[in-house]
Amino acid sequence: MAKQFQSVQGFNDILYPEVGKFQHIESVSRQYFGLFNFKEVKTPVLEQAGLFVRSIGNGTDIVEKEMYIFEDKGGEILSLRPEGTAPAVRAYLEHNIDRQDAIQKWFYIGPMFRHERPQKGRFRQFHQAGVEVFGIDDPFADIEVILLADKIVSSLAVKGVTVRLNSIGCPACRPVYLRELKSYLNGITDRLCEDCKRRIDTNPMRVLDCKKEGCMAATAGAPKTTDYLCSVCSAHFSTLRSGLDALRQGYTIDTRLVRGLDYYSRTVFEFTAEDAGAQNAVLAGGRYDYLVELLGGAHTPAIGFAMGIERIAALIDMPAVHGPDIFFIPITEEARVRAIGLADRLRRADKTCEIGYGEKTIKSMMRRADRLNAAMVIIIGKDELRDGSITLKRLSDGLQEKVDDATLLEAVRRMSQ
Ligand SMILES: [Zn+2]
Ligand SMILES: [Zn+2]
Repeated sequence: MAKQFQSVQGFNDILYPEVGKFQHIESVSRQYFGLFNFKEVKTPVLEQAGLFVRSIGNGTDIVEKEMYIFEDKGGEILSLRPEGTAPAVRAYLEHNIDRQDAIQKWFYIGPMFRHERPQKGRFRQFHQAGVEVFGIDDPFADIEVILLADKIVSSLAVKGVTVRLNSIGCPACRPVYLRELKSYLNGITDRLCEDCKRRIDTNPMRVLDCKKEGCMAATAGAPKTTDYLCSVCSAHFSTLRSGLDALRQGYTIDTRLVRGLDYYSRTVFEFTAEDAGAQNAVLAGGRYDYLVELLGGAHTPAIGFAMGIERIAALIDMPAVHGPDIFFIPITEEARVRAIGLADRLRRADKTCEIGYGEKTIKSMMRRADRLNAAMVIIIGKDELRDGSITLKRLSDGLQEKVDDATLLEAVRRMSQ
């Protein structure tokens, strides 16, 4: 019979050993999140669609084209979460955390969903790890968040990483900038792509972000956000820069770096990595001092980043995979009972054990132990059952030892060295 089902387009199974990369990225991220004293938040994958429309804003690709949106049986319009920040803010407000202790440092790791046209390296379900800091407007929070991002990306040995940094101002100074930018863009409309022509009215800063060559050339002389910062934004940016300099955190100022999301303010940053000649963002972040307010809370400055786990996985080497410490080769039912008991003892001593059930002969079990890259095998055959012994064999060099139950763990430890 033909296979009847396959995974939904853009939704991937992540199998061993590839899953090892994901586990590695997650565990390195968790390690640093913990060291920087961030606490985990797990929000649902499904939210009211309005949360994202409100926060991310119309005029963005995410809301216009990419939301995984549907009406459920109760007539409610829901969306699979396209990103992690809006749900975190929703949770922050829903649980009145702003009224208990406004300063919070949260992290999340989990799947996100965008209904993009499937293409290489783009998935409809993908994974992000990210942080959100609520309640601090001090630029040193920005510095620490950037250092945290750098720690994770460096520890994962992602090659060719560049940190790009910009400031996009605040509601006091941005309107002036946007007016200048719009008038500049209106003068060059014939040189812009169709998307950018629309963006002039809906989200003009996004035009600077367009990756099409024509648009990039046409906007080369566009006004720069950094030339229009008010004194507060300007002081914030300069403290941020001198702090990063003092801490020897490398970065380049990129005045084209803008966020397509309306709630971002001041600091924006991106970690890009070179992949096949192209620079791809692996991590993006920034300040969003106005999002909590926008969603109904008190004014609460905030900053965060999100890291693309698939994108990083594509750029790192496979971490070393270890086979089981011990593969048991029990040849009879009685031997299997004994193997399970012994495996339990070894597992309690942190030794990974697998027991050969699926194969019938010692030879086929040995082949399986080899395939699994086991370090040792324990053979429990007729002889061993008769005299209560165990034959332990190290596969790397064939060293073999006959031991009993009492001395097994000792022998396994000796042979592990
Ligand atoms: Zn400002
Ligand atoms: Zn364009």
